[in-house]
Amino acid sequence: MFIDYEEFVRRADSVRTQIATACIAAGRDPASVELLAVTKTHPIDAAHYAARYGLRAVGENRVQEAAEKRPLCTAPALQWELIGHLQSNKAKLAATHFDRVQSVDSEKLLNHLDRAAAELGKILPVLLQINAGRDPAKFGAELEDAPRLLELALSKKNLHIEGLMTIAPLGTTPAEAADHAQRTFTQLRTLRDDLASRFQTPLSELSMGMSSDLTPAIAAGSTQVRVGSALYGAR
Ligand SMILES: *Cc1c(COP(=O)(O)O)cnc(C)c1O
Repeated sequence: MFIDYEEFVRRADSVRTQIATACIAAGRDPASVELLAVTKTHPIDAAHYAARYGLRAVGENRVQEAAEKRPLCTAPALQWELIGHLQSNKAKLAATHFDRVQSVDSEKLLNHLDRAAAELGKILPVLLQINAGRDPAKFGAELEDAPRLLELALSKKNLHIEGLMTIAPLGTTPAEAADHAQRTFTQLRTLRDDLASRFQTPLSELSMGMSSDLTPAIAAGSTQVRVGSALYGAR
């Protein structure tokens, strides 16, 4: 059975405390890090809990799942963000059902999303996903390709480039995972600072950190942590 709202509140309060603690340790304002509730694989109530708790947005990793779930949502102000890999042939569907796409990692996808947004008459906010941990098992543009990808992205009239996203590689031990996380998040932060100055664009959103590695992400400058299992339980 899915958790009830009271249990969700306990878990969300605890995640918020973790975020605040990490912020204070890093000398940052706790309000500078947003909690994105990752509702993938969970029933629509997961999204309703997030909205009732006052969160701005939920994250889903599959276009089809969100396209089926979102029409069931009774919280009209809740925003939906795509955090999973997107194939260019699903760009139109993604631009239709999501308020922001965080997983843009190729020129082809930029071209398709820009065209889809134009057809829908909207400006679609996006993040560029970077494989900052150089993990062969992860999607995301290579670090070296980021400048070229951003240059093309900034030329797209129907896309608004708000920042960068990354996922840290898994580790075989907790110590290795912590090391990967720290390295990956610092890498993304450095890349963002370089690109922002080189292209004179703020790239203010840094989407990094999940249930198990939000503290090092916040230390490195994360502005949004994407949390699933700590809120809703194992998938
Ligand atoms: C599933 C997922 C998350 C949430 O992961 P948890 O470990 O459950 O917090 C975050 N980001 C992405 C891209 C995901 O696919």
